[in-house]
Amino acid sequence: MTIHDNLSHLIERIHLAEDKHHRQRDSVTLLAVSKKQSAEKIRDAFHAGQKYFGENYVQEALKKQALLTDLTIEWHFIGTIQSNKIKMIAAHFDWVHSVNTVSAAEQLNAHRSPQLPPLNICIEVNIDSEKTKSGVAPDDVLSIAKKIMTLNNLNLRGLMIIPNTHNAKAAFQQTHELQNQLIQSGILLDTLSMGMSADFELAIAAGSTLVRIGTAIFGERVL
Ligand SMILES: *Cc1c(COP(=O)(O)O)cnc(C)c1O
Repeated sequence: MTIHDNLSHLIERIHLAEDKHHRQRDSVTLLAVSKKQSAEKIRDAFHAGQKYFGENYVQEALKKQALLTDLTIEWHFIGTIQSNKIKMIAAHFDWVHSVNTVSAAEQLNAHRSPQLPPLNICIEVNIDSEKTKSGVAPDDVLSIAKKIMTLNNLNLRGLMIIPNTHNAKAAFQQTHELQNQLIQSGILLDTLSMGMSADFELAIAAGSTLVRIGTAIFGERVL
């Protein structure tokens, strides 16, 4: 299977899930997660029609971006935010899905040039409230969301989760409920970043608007 075949097959599965769960057609965005995949593979995916790419490692992403400046790619940062990389993230990405502290948000805001469009932000939620996992506790999401709303160079868009495999379905539903609560509090969020290769159909059933898919597009990670 080529990258082109994999993408067509995935888009077909996303459309089927949208229809089955009474979601509007194309209400779910496909983010191609290209961590540990070569610049050539990203180029192939772009020429097959894919415009949104997600990366986890800043250094690796910047190297590939430098090889792909001729393409109009929208770059999403989905990895762990290290404080010494925040400046680079703020300058070289269009979205950050993994904001999990007020301090990270403030530093992203401080380093985002007002000349650029505001950086789109998702708050990473630790929906399972696991001690070992990063992410904001569900009870703290409203206060961090209100804070981010005051930062001019950021545009708060939604919530992101990486659930445990054993209770992904409940986690997706709880995150959707949390989004609705925030909307009722006047925080307009249009994005739910949830679902990966193994569970994206469950995520779409629960209201996901953006699925992050790597291996099902590119195959095994190599770099
Ligand atoms: C790697 C990664 C993905 C993609 O995972 P696949 O199983 O390859 O689809 C999605 N989201 C995050 C946060 C990741 O780190």
